[in-house]
Amino acid sequence: MTLDVALVGGGLANLLIAWRLADRRPDTTFRVLEAGSVLGGNHTWSFHGSDLDPDSLPWVVDLARGTWDGYEVRFPTLTRSLRGRYHSIGSEQLSARCRERFGDRLETNARVVEVTPDRVVLADGSRIDARCVIDGRGWGAPSGIAVGYQRFVGLELRLTGPHGLSRPVIMDATVAQDGAYRFMYAVPLAPDVVLLEDTAYADRPEAPMAESRQAIDRYAAHRGWTIAEVVRTESGALPIPLTGGLEALRASWVPGVPTVGVRAGLFHATTGYSLPYAVHVADLVASLDRLDSASLAPTLERLARSVWRRQRFFRLLNRMLFFAAAPEERYRVLQRFYGLGEGLIERFYADRLTPWDRLRLVTGRPPVPFFRGLACLPERIPTFSR
Ligand SMILES: Cc1cc2nc3c(=O)[nH]c(=O)nc-3n(C[C@H](O)[C@H](O)[C@H](O)COP(=O)(O)OP(=O)(O)OC[C@H]3O[C@@H](n4cnc5c(N)ncnc54)[C@H](O)[C@@H]3O)c2cc1C
Repeated sequence: MTLDVALVGGGLANLLIAWRLADRRPDTTFRVLEAGSVLGGNHTWSFHGSDLDPDSLPWVVDLARGTWDGYEVRFPTLTRSLRGRYHSIGSEQLSARCRERFGDRLETNARVVEVTPDRVVLADGSRIDARCVIDGRGWGAPSGIAVGYQRFVGLELRLTGPHGLSRPVIMDATVAQDGAYRFMYAVPLAPDVVLLEDTAYADRPEAPMAESRQAIDRYAAHRGWTIAEVVRTESGALPIPLTGGLEALRASWVPGVPTVGVRAGLFHATTGYSLPYAVHVADLVASLDRLDSASLAPTLERLARSVWRRQRFFRLLNRMLFFAAAPEERYRVLQRFYGLGEGLIERFYADRLTPWDRLRLVTGRPPVPFFRGLACLPERIPTFSR
């Protein structure tokens, strides 16, 4: 039997596509093929309500584990509460909802070894034919793109008493800044449960587990919290592109195969977050008149091309963040950013900056040494190096 859609990779992008196909085209036959033993990996995917199109918000928020009215940031000389709504989706919860809804249309331990526009071959030699094959196998680490990393170790902690946080603290950069821009990310998931993530913008992807554990323990103690139990651990390293053209990105795509998610470069280059782009693509795919590889591949490529081009500006900011200041001083870039207008901050996260916003971000009293900032302007790694 030929399927309508074969979704290669059971990560965020493809699970959301499956979700929207079931909502909007319930007759579509599809299968999700995931190499790992779980769907969606082990993540907490957060986003600002203003990152999404208003029409998408209700169905995405329905999948959320938590929703808060506003969030906070903390820096050495700035503490600020921002109004925008903030949401988090847990991969475990998303996976459970998908399992309940899709049953055996989801296959785990199904590693795909060959992808073509109308067929996939699994490691066990079985073959699946489909009119549309969608490649969502995650970041392809193309060699022509220089990246730094946003790496983190997160612990979901049950405390011995209430933590007293009413909203997430998405950056607490009052922590020690050793060797990188570092901050703690704190999300209150229940009155006595908090997710604490020790986060760094670092040159290397490896997460220092023991060191992060100590940093989290120190932070909890500093806030007066006593840890009763570690409920869950998550860690990761999100690529933060510094330079690179779309052609380099395309090197990890299979010609003629529609590519989605971070593999397609559909993520915010400065935060590494991909959820808003994945939502947009899920709605787009589910709304098309024709759903086959030949029509979807160029549509998605056009989208990826325009996002990658637009994000040239974010890659410039990334070079400034990584190279223009000494590691202990990098927090100043973000501290200055969070002192700007709330509308601009929202548009930054939503990847909807206006030309005026861009100007505002790179002018004014510079948070980094002027000449080092200047050297970051061309899209290449500055010669004074990392
Ligand atoms: C720990 C963590 C936290 C994050 N938090 C956020 C956040 O708060 N907000 C946000 O927007 N973004 C966040 N991100 C970034 C980004 O949204 C995620 O990386 C997101 O999961 C990317 O979605 P994706 O579908 O493109 O890739 P993935 O979710 O990585 O999915 C790719 C899937 O393909 C599978 N696969 C790979 N090769 C094969 C194969 N040969 N055959 C079959 N399957 C295969 C993989 O096992 C994987 O499950 C986070 C990332 C990490 C790592």
